[in-house]
Amino acid sequence: MSLVRKHVQRLRPYVPGEQPKDRGLIKLNTNENPYPPAPKVLSAIKRAVDDRLRLYPDPRAGKLREQLAGLHGVDPENVIIGNGSDELLGLAVRAFVDPGVDCVQYFTPSYSLYPVLADIHNAKRNEVCLLDDFSLPPVKQLRKKEGWDFRAALTYITTPNAPTGCGYTTAELDALCLAQKGVVVLDEAYVDFARENAMHLAAKHSHVLVSRTFSKSYSLCFQRVGYFVGSRELVSALDKTRDSYNVNGLGQLAAEATLKSLPYYRSNFRKIIKLREKVGLVLAGLGFESLPSQANFILTKPPRFAAGTWFKKLRAQKILVRHFKGSHVKDYLRITIGSEKDMNVLLRAIRAILRG
Ligand code: PMP
Repeated sequence: MSLVRKHVQRLRPYVPGEQPKDRGLIKLNTNENPYPPAPKVLSAIKRAVDDRLRLYPDPRAGKLREQLAGLHGVDPENVIIGNGSDELLGLAVRAFVDPGVDCVQYFTPSYSLYPVLADIHNAKRNEVCLLDDFSLPPVKQLRKKEGWDFRAALTYITTPNAPTGCGYTTAELDALCLAQKGVVVLDEAYVDFARENAMHLAAKHSHVLVSRTFSKSYSLCFQRVGYFVGSRELVSALDKTRDSYNVNGLGQLAAEATLKSLPYYRSNFRKIIKLREKVGLVLAGLGFESLPSQANFILTKPPRFAAGTWFKKLRAQKILVRHFKGSHVKDYLRITIGSEKDMNVLLRAIRAILRG
């Protein structure tokens, strides 16, 4: 007899993008930032590697919460820090969803972690397809269409969406939030590459949480720091369900230093956005059909060969992109915008593959 609960035996874990051991690969598969952290961030981390590693870090990440509160014009009680935003997305299920009773809802395709988090908690899942062009169905249409649950205990919305890259307007998100009765998490992991953000909806609606991360825009995937902004009621519920020292000390320091170098990062956002547009145009000229992206990646339908074949051909040339086999986007490749040099290598490889 197994020692593991039947429910856990049946779980299918989240599949993260490959982190290859071979450092010679050009890595365009997990939406990491091609630019290093700001020099002051690196020196803050290095300076902190001393005797203090013996000690526990601030269990409430007070300094970082204060800085983020200042940045977003809220109180520190409206901010909670997580070991990456993934941890907080999981805590939201724990805090707001009754297992076996309540439902976790999201659009498909969106972040493939959501169903896994629902399953871990033994919550019901409600997946509703985006429109054919991957845009958000308007509330009026959701009311007419069967399936969408305005009373779902927890609704996740990735905005801009992943893996499509499509942006949603704050006005349409506001209308959807207004219609929902349960908690809504607006997952803004890629929002720094978008035209709009919906942060003010966390202050406007007491049932809305906005999720952000230092991973992508702030080049800190390695340190695992993300945060939610929302009403005191929701934030204190999440706070009760987290581990006491959930955010490591070096991560807290790195994030604090990051917030003191914002102009450096904003200039990187602009460079990535500019390159995204340029690469999009070149890909279009080569017969690729890309979705309009407001993120640091492009989802694109390649010509001539199936997406899975392109994935293998590019990998053979030491270029790693993402292909979601057996999903709604199985005909597409998701390509992270890397450095100018890496994107030139990619485009050269693509031209060579097309020439046969
Ligand atoms: N949301 C989305 C949509 C993501 O793609 C990711 C990264 N895989 C995350 C959240 C989590 O980011 P992190 O845990 O690094 O903050």
